[in-house]
Amino acid sequence: MARTEWNHVPEVPIQVSPLWQWPPKPAAALRWYFDSWFFLTINMAIAAISFAAFFWASPTLEAAAQPGWWMLAIWLRNALIVTVLAGVLHLWFHKYAAQGSELKFDPRPFPRQGRVFTMNSQLLDNMIWTIASGVTIWSALECLLWWAMANGYAATITFQSNPVWFIAIFFLIPVWESFYFYWMHRFLHTNAMYRFHALHHRNTDIGPWSGLSMHPVEHAFYFGSVLIHFVIASHPVHIIFHLMFYGLLAITSHTGFEGVLFRNKKRLHLGNFHHQIHHRYFECNYGNLDVPWDILFGSWHDGTDAGKTAMKERLKARSRV
Ligand SMILES: [Zn+2]
Ligand SMILES: [Zn+2]
Repeated sequence: MARTEWNHVPEVPIQVSPLWQWPPKPAAALRWYFDSWFFLTINMAIAAISFAAFFWASPTLEAAAQPGWWMLAIWLRNALIVTVLAGVLHLWFHKYAAQGSELKFDPRPFPRQGRVFTMNSQLLDNMIWTIASGVTIWSALECLLWWAMANGYAATITFQSNPVWFIAIFFLIPVWESFYFYWMHRFLHTNAMYRFHALHHRNTDIGPWSGLSMHPVEHAFYFGSVLIHFVIASHPVHIIFHLMFYGLLAITSHTGFEGVLFRNKKRLHLGNFHHQIHHRYFECNYGNLDVPWDILFGSWHDGTDAGKTAMKERLKARSRV
């Protein structure tokens, strides 16, 4: 793709998880899962933060049986984690430009000013919607599930009672996310719903605070994925991980950079070109790369010029209907 359009173009065409490629590539598929879980990765870090939050900054199930101050403590814990993570990434990549424009997808500087943004500032706009709406709805859903588990409205398991299932749930949440997020995101792009999703799309160029910058209605749908634990017996740490996975991954995947460089080597993979293209062109790449929903349902843009032409053809065909 033309250099003027993007500052950094990774290897294209974009690849989805080898699990879904034909002919079968078992070794590559294993490597994909190994790389996304057992290396120094975002998934691993989110799992570690979730366990720390469970052990050191969560109520007991007994306390959660009644509404109380523990609810405020959950909001404060989540607000603090979000602020530190998005804050540090913003300072590293954008304020102090610690790695310049190395691995930065979009050539335009971030953040911008403009009337489209709350308080005329992209950064303030993103921070306000993230904390006031995002952290609040995330925490409200977490409190609801704590309360439901404490009162027996949602079934619980422990590691001792069900060790295999306890571990499996961590690996299933990202698969569920890939499915749920794709369809919810397409739904938000329908005429009836786009008025809410438009707030997230004020950001054609993105930074870490853009990830959770959404309208409250979108936050309710986005974090509403966690309600599945009313049907699937789980442990409170799964609830924390599920919400952190949605909340923190939105931040790390919207830095505008492919990853963190350290001594000229990419040490940590962050954003995917796939979602960056969605922010530029809107009508493609609704999902992620763990399951190829975009390929299956005709919304794929693989980052090449051919991918862009195919997207334009689809839009033309749609406008003729
Ligand atoms: Zn986005
Ligand atoms: Zn969108």
